[in-house]
Amino acid sequence: MRLLPGALFSALLLGCGSVPTPLAPGLEGSVGVPHDGVQTGALELPRSGPGFVRYRPWSKNYWGRPELVRALIRAAETVTREHPGGAPLVLGDLSAEHGGKIPNHRSHRTGRDVDLLWYLTTPDGAPVPTPGFVRVGSDGLAQVEQDFLALDIPRMWALVRALLSDAEIGVQWLFVSQPIEALLIEYAMAKGEPDALVWYAQTVLHQPRDSAPHDDHIHMRIACSPSAQVSGCQGGGPAWEFLPPPPALELSDDALMTLIAAGEPPPSDEDSSTDVESAGELVSALEHQPGHLSGAQAGTAGHASPLAIPVVHASASPRPLLDPPVCRQWADR
Ligand SMILES: [Zn+2]
Repeated sequence: MRLLPGALFSALLLGCGSVPTPLAPGLEGSVGVPHDGVQTGALELPRSGPGFVRYRPWSKNYWGRPELVRALIRAAETVTREHPGGAPLVLGDLSAEHGGKIPNHRSHRTGRDVDLLWYLTTPDGAPVPTPGFVRVGSDGLAQVEQDFLALDIPRMWALVRALLSDAEIGVQWLFVSQPIEALLIEYAMAKGEPDALVWYAQTVLHQPRDSAPHDDHIHMRIACSPSAQVSGCQGGGPAWEFLPPPPALELSDDALMTLIAAGEPPPSDEDSSTDVESAGELVSALEHQPGHLSGAQAGTAGHASPLAIPVVHASASPRPLLDPPVCRQWADR
């Protein structure tokens, strides 16, 4: 098994609940994991725009990563352009301005999560505004009081396609119930969508195992971008082949000297990844530096280690990224 050294450093040196601190000025943006983190520099989603409205217009929990907010605005506009005349997309919570816990959610803490309500029609196919979070069954129908509404599959697929195709974000997950995933994928295949797009959708559309089945909305999570990963963004799922590769590690001079003193050869530019054993020795060597907090200590304290974070640069070479198990938390509403 191979681990990305950057991910290892990030997890062990910062802990899972890192927060921006003067001791680690490099932490910014989406910091920590989706269920235990914060954010800085967030952008607020407007109350409404072309093709979308907020579910809770006056809520303070509509702050997200700027690239996520921009992608949502673009996607809603795309759906409206492709399918004019329908009701707007209704968007549920994003995050608080500075992140952290918000009501009704376990995640939604780092600006990378958003809830997408359904596009709905009457059983005859006339678009209607969604009355809120309504549960859609495997037949694509939702019972609302005495009436039935139907999932607007063409618009929902247009939304998924627009989000997956957006160049500014990488979609990590679209949490949704299995029957609705099947409806969307079936429609995409019947429509003759490109295989790569369908495969991407099939991969990230997923019914979470540890929370509600998500039959009344889609919960979207965007991935940490390579640059966000070096400023504290952590976790949230596998490094899909569709996403930009995580950054390769380039050691700072101090870390390199520590490595040499410990008798380890420095990693070459051609292969800066390493295996678990040598990564463990490297971390062990760093942990013996004066003033260093261990990963457990750092996690308990809730602050990043005062040890300088190794300098990391993006690399074009794809590398697998495995979340530390303790940080893995996939889903919730
Ligand atoms: Zn959610």
